[in-house]
Amino acid sequence: MVRSIDRVGVVGAGTMGAGIAQVAATAGYEVVVRDIERSFVDDGFERMTDSLTRLADRDALDEEPGTVLDRIEGTIEFDDLADCDLVVEAVVENLDVKRDVFADLDDRLDDAVMATNTSTLSITSIAAATDAPERVVGLHFMNPVPIMEGVEVVVGERTDADVVALAHEFSADLGKTTWESDDKPGFVVNRILMPWLNEGIRAYDEGVASREDLDQGMKLGTNVPMGPLELADYIGLDVCLHASETLHEELGDRYQPAYLLKRKVEAGDLGKKTGRGFYEY
Ligand code: NAD
Repeated sequence: MVRSIDRVGVVGAGTMGAGIAQVAATAGYEVVVRDIERSFVDDGFERMTDSLTRLADRDALDEEPGTVLDRIEGTIEFDDLADCDLVVEAVVENLDVKRDVFADLDDRLDDAVMATNTSTLSITSIAAATDAPERVVGLHFMNPVPIMEGVEVVVGERTDADVVALAHEFSADLGKTTWESDDKPGFVVNRILMPWLNEGIRAYDEGVASREDLDQGMKLGTNVPMGPLELADYIGLDVCLHASETLHEELGDRYQPAYLLKRKVEAGDLGKKTGRGFYEY
């Protein structure tokens, strides 16, 4: 197994993949980011350029954005990941798609660490698609990756202790602070966050308070930066519903998604990204 990391691969150039590629390159790693279509790779570069420019404008970047971007190679070829020491998968939250990606990674990588950014799926199930489950670990970055300090390291049934240690070290090198979770549904964050969001939505639906009072109450009453409705809109209501449904399937009734969450998603009101969720944007 690799003992040190020089070249980092990222699979998926979406919201999370672009963020992970950006923070790895900012920390000095050579990065290769792979998506299925050239336009998706280009969208990822646009996102990274915008984010790095904003950070530079705030004096929060030590180098020029262009210098960081020069360390990132975009590709649609899976084979370009072959020289990587650690690959982080950040494709859509679908077990079959992720298992296909891991089988492909396993074919091309001899001893690299294979990490998944999944929010709710089992690391052990994903690792079972490979012949090297000991090299598979969860590296659950938070959104937006360049801003959020935390990374959840998730330990699968077969994950090697050295791989877990390397996952912590790598995250620390990116300037992140880690905590560890066993491979149980939702890990630490989403296991606790999703019922909190759903209870907020139910309380709103049942007329406990206006949306503003509900969010204000939770912000000022429990010292969190966003209330449940505001945070759900920010995450995306479709993403919240999908995560809630996965947890409901695994953990039973106490994880049932709120009725109003389903109704909003059906109506196409997905939160900030569509201009309307619990609030209008
Ligand atoms: P996204 O839809 O923004 O990006 C996914 C990208 O993966 C897309 O560009 C898509 O084209 C690409 N892709 C799909 N199949 C691929 C393949 N076989 N090879 C290469 N690329 C492929 O999704 P996202 O929000 O970035 O989420 C990615 C992962 O991160 C999911 O597992 C999600 O649960 C997790 N996550 C998301 C958030 C969040 O708030 N968005 C937070 C933490 C974790």
